[in-house]
Amino acid sequence: MKASGNAPLRGLTKCTGCGANVVWTVTTRGKKMLVDAEPSDKGNLLLSRQVDRKLVAIVARRGDAECEARYLSHFVTCPNAAQFRRRPRKRSGAMRQRS
Ligand SMILES: [Zn+2]
Repeated sequence: MKASGNAPLRGLTKCTGCGANVVWTVTTRGKKMLVDAEPSDKGNLLLSRQVDRKLVAIVARRGDAECEARYLSHFVTCPNAAQFRRRPRKRSGAMRQRS
């Protein structure tokens, strides 16, 4: 059993697409985002719990504390991510995130 240094994540749920453990977070722009519950070496997101208990996903930058766990957007890792993207509207550029 792996002991994680972090408190259990609130909002833990399962991806309806692939069954992975994921957690709902909010981006710094206030959008909801599913993030893998497991930290990843390739992760680029820092999760920060706010006073109102929301988890805010902050895109890590080079030079940020390396000791903090990094997480990946589940949109990146989900084999069934396509089903999350059935949004009729397209925004130019904004959603492109590759790691
Ligand atoms: Zn999934």
